[in-house]
Amino acid sequence: MTVARNAIALALALLAGRAAAGETPVEALKRAYPDAVAASHGDTIVFKDGTRLDTGADDPAKSFDERIAHANLRDMFRLAYPKGAALAPPAINFDPGRFRDKAFFDRLYGDCRKGEVEKRLVAVTWLAKSWGRAVKFAPEAAAALGAVSAEIDAMPPSIKHAAYPTAGTYACRGVADQGQPSMHAYGAAIDLNLDYSYYWLWDTNGKGAPHWRNRMPREIIDAFERHGFIWGGRWYHYDTMHFEYRPELSAPAR
Ligand SMILES: [Zn+2]
Repeated sequence: MTVARNAIALALALLAGRAAAGETPVEALKRAYPDAVAASHGDTIVFKDGTRLDTGADDPAKSFDERIAHANLRDMFRLAYPKGAALAPPAINFDPGRFRDKAFFDRLYGDCRKGEVEKRLVAVTWLAKSWGRAVKFAPEAAAALGAVSAEIDAMPPSIKHAAYPTAGTYACRGVADQGQPSMHAYGAAIDLNLDYSYYWLWDTNGKGAPHWRNRMPREIIDAFERHGFIWGGRWYHYDTMHFEYRPELSAPAR
């Protein structure tokens, strides 16, 4: 049943091929990053500094591995993020949000290997009433993280304990299985309590198919999704303590 339902969800997502509320990729990027993306012309976005980035072609022959390693902006929107959906094992290779256009995020947040990211990070107090330590985050995403923190902090201890201590935010590193920068390299991702975490690569040791499981409470996932974050537990290649700021895929509530 679950497999059939997920296959249908995947087919719908592929058909949609676009972001929340029927936006095109350029519309979603303009809405999500208004301080960085000034305009769009057809399939090209224009940054505030005048530089441009094309969405690239939609190539049906491009493989999953190629999209993971070299995603363009169109690939980024290929799988619609199922914000608010029931928690269930994702269909094979349904990884909405793991296709990331490196050129776009380098332009947005900087290149950590050139020291451009770390100097811009700001401190956000994570769960002031429960844990109360500062984490470093990208300025574009700091207010959203603060709003998530306030919501989780008001939850019962049995739920919010999955959210601390955090396992980290900024780290200038690539994703373990692909070598591409993760959103941690931009200071726009947070890992929560390691004790509540399942990660496909640790579970499989790189051999065999991921078998999804999860202990992250629904209330915490909902809080992040309300503020423009996506959750790594919605991926076939799951990472259930991981949340990253991707308002182009998870439109914040208005
Ligand atoms: Zn992470």
